[in-house]
Amino acid sequence: MDEEGLPCEDVLALLREYLRSDKTFASGKILGSMCTQPHRFASAVYASHLEKNLGDPGLFPGTAQLEREVVHMLGRLHSHPGVVGHIVSGGTEANILALWAARNLALEAGEKERNQVVVQKGGHVSLDKAANMLGLELVRVERNERYQFDTTALEEKISEHTLAVVGVAGTTDLGVIDPVQELSEVVAEHNIYLHVDAAFGGMVTPFMEDLGYDVPKYDFRLSGVCSMTVDPHKMGMAPIPSGGILFRGREYWDAIRTKVPYLGGGEAIYSTITCTRPGASVVATWALFKHMGRRGYRETVRRIMDMTKTFLDGLSDLDWLELVTHPMMNIVGVRPSTRRESDVQKLASLLRQRGWSISSFPTHIRIVFMPHLQEKHVQEFLDDLKSLSHFFGS
Ligand code: PLP
Repeated sequence: MDEEGLPCEDVLALLREYLRSDKTFASGKILGSMCTQPHRFASAVYASHLEKNLGDPGLFPGTAQLEREVVHMLGRLHSHPGVVGHIVSGGTEANILALWAARNLALEAGEKERNQVVVQKGGHVSLDKAANMLGLELVRVERNERYQFDTTALEEKISEHTLAVVGVAGTTDLGVIDPVQELSEVVAEHNIYLHVDAAFGGMVTPFMEDLGYDVPKYDFRLSGVCSMTVDPHKMGMAPIPSGGILFRGREYWDAIRTKVPYLGGGEAIYSTITCTRPGASVVATWALFKHMGRRGYRETVRRIMDMTKTFLDGLSDLDWLELVTHPMMNIVGVRPSTRRESDVQKLASLLRQRGWSISSFPTHIRIVFMPHLQEKHVQEFLDDLKSLSHFFGS
């Protein structure tokens, strides 16, 4: 830190300089992000409530009430208004909390041999982190031909060591929804914890269902589901950080609760990793849900699913490209039909040279159609893909 401070205008000028290299959602060039431009109203609300700290809920009982209401609204979207949970830093923290609860419940029951968590190969890396932190082993099983959790493979992996199974609703690489109904039936036979990571899909599929899409069931309608991750800061357009952990009942929340005695607002009990937490996230997410309503999100999802369809239609003219699997939501995996990893990387690099921020995996590139995009951006992207045909022998 320098000895003397600078006038605000000079600091702002420096900041502009530093931040010039950052990409913007407004450019329409970011096709590889699961986050988006936060909603303008929610951002304004966020900025006016920066002092709220949910680490000390006794000082901010109004904010604490808003958190309960946001959790309840997320629960209603997933068929169980009675959920208990928190708004946390994101999907990673939510997944850690779920597996922490599963582990503690097994320890309380004297089942310390249960130390394995089973997930499909496309499960998010946050599950590796969670397993590592909690002293658990993450077992990744094969996927079926639609890139979903292969439930036959699950039956083979289950043993007295199985603590939890994680189903994903909106895999990070392809947006696939696992057959959670089947997972729910399998776990019921073995008294195993079932967590659903709907960090991305949880703010898409309820509205797809409203629009008449045929979406596999994965939420609390299935009796085996103990907890879910649903992130408002992804498809919910809430300012970062806003991740949701939802537990079916109080007993799961209790398994990881901590009493914090020293607070200005009086003793508090909560089940999050951090103590100090941005209440502004909760206030902004609550305001956004109230403002958008189910209809607002439904219209947003209609728009992004229309863009996804425009892309799929355009793709059918590009015979050198193929889909990895037919998309289940607004995440599309595409690869050159040679399926060579070197061609996938060449495609990714050519697109980056043209200014597109896409995600690349060894097997494909991923495009996520998010609310910051418009139909014209999809057309521009298709035009650029067309102009690359000759690199791939077409
Ligand atoms: N779960 C899934 C399926 C994800 O795709 C992601 C992130 O992309 C996460 C969890 C982690 O969420 P976060 O980045 O908010 O920690």
